[in-house]
Amino acid sequence: MLVVEDGIVVARGSHADLARRYEGVPVELLPGLVVPGFVDAHVHYPQMDSIAAHGAQLLDWLDRHIFPAERAFAERAYADAVAAAFLDELLRNGTTSALVFPTVHAQSVDALFEAAQRRAMRLLSGKVLMDLGPEGLSDTPLSARAESEALIRRWHGRDRLGYAITPRFVLTSSDDQLRIAGALLAAHPDLLLHTHLAENVGECAAVAERFLDASDYLDVYDRFGLVGARSVFAHGVHLSDRACARLHDSGAGIAVCPSSNLFLGSGFFDFGQADRCKVRLGLGTDVGAGTSFSMLRTAGLAYQVALARGDPLDPFRALFLATAGSAALLHIDDRVGCLEPGQEADFVVLDCAATPLLARRTAGRDLAERLFALQILGDDRAIARTYILGECAWDREAPIRSADGAS
Ligand SMILES: [Zn+2]
Repeated sequence: MLVVEDGIVVARGSHADLARRYEGVPVELLPGLVVPGFVDAHVHYPQMDSIAAHGAQLLDWLDRHIFPAERAFAERAYADAVAAAFLDELLRNGTTSALVFPTVHAQSVDALFEAAQRRAMRLLSGKVLMDLGPEGLSDTPLSARAESEALIRRWHGRDRLGYAITPRFVLTSSDDQLRIAGALLAAHPDLLLHTHLAENVGECAAVAERFLDASDYLDVYDRFGLVGARSVFAHGVHLSDRACARLHDSGAGIAVCPSSNLFLGSGFFDFGQADRCKVRLGLGTDVGAGTSFSMLRTAGLAYQVALARGDPLDPFRALFLATAGSAALLHIDDRVGCLEPGQEADFVVLDCAATPLLARRTAGRDLAERLFALQILGDDRAIARTYILGECAWDREAPIRSADGAS
């Protein structure tokens, strides 16, 4: 039994114990397995319509599919429409919080934060810094600084929203801009740093070529003051032991994105290496390189990627990574992620019989087996309901109108 008052969890325990204490309080029977709302630690909202783009690894895929799509976000109305569809898709998949890449355009951040505010979602984002980006998608070190400062003032700490300094990755920013990112972070120590790290072999080679005297990819970020306890690096597929040790010492962490790493042929995240160095981990879909918005499906792929290197990921740990682990990585674990009393009541009702096969595979099974089957066989179909602050924001049986008025 979960007792919720004004959107906050006030008690959690067995029905037998709590029903007496809360006699007279209206009780709703939820049809399924209740887990905390999923926290997607790395996802790109402007890429949702570029998901499933054929034929290239990271750098070519960016040039061929992603950069052309991101140019459209210069137009505010277009950004508004995609932001609304994106957040509705998160809710349909049981994701209640996320750390999100927008585009280089400041208005793409406004569009996302306004749409998240209307849905009362706990969400983090920040303007992408990329002064070495292609035509139509690049800023300058100075404009990046001014726009970021204005957006931080406008959005950080407003309702459930938080700001992240977001250089795209090393190759799309000049040394000057990386220095400015470090200065912004130093001036606002309560913000996150969100970027990509050591995703793809071709990318790592290009970074090594530009920074000949850096010990590794992470060292480049370190030189600009971008590695700290509030730094979230997506991927980290190709890390040296030194980089892993440095991640641990600094308190920085990795958003592991297995479906993206498989889709772009980037490689298999090394859970064994990360665990030996006690690196903090969360889980991200990385849509549009990722192939699903579902954190269940992403957890199932994390299992397969880990097993490829000989580490069978426990289904409870996979659930932890998709909820409390990602929340800790994003420094919102005091608010969401494990439904502790005092936390915000963002939760999901999972349906173990969402498909005939799931029903057969989970019937009479223990919790670990049901959870694992949901991760391997489940996706958005297994999300019966999604609750934000104790209010139903998505109901599979009765799809409600979106906060933006679309059905
Ligand atoms: Zn990404």
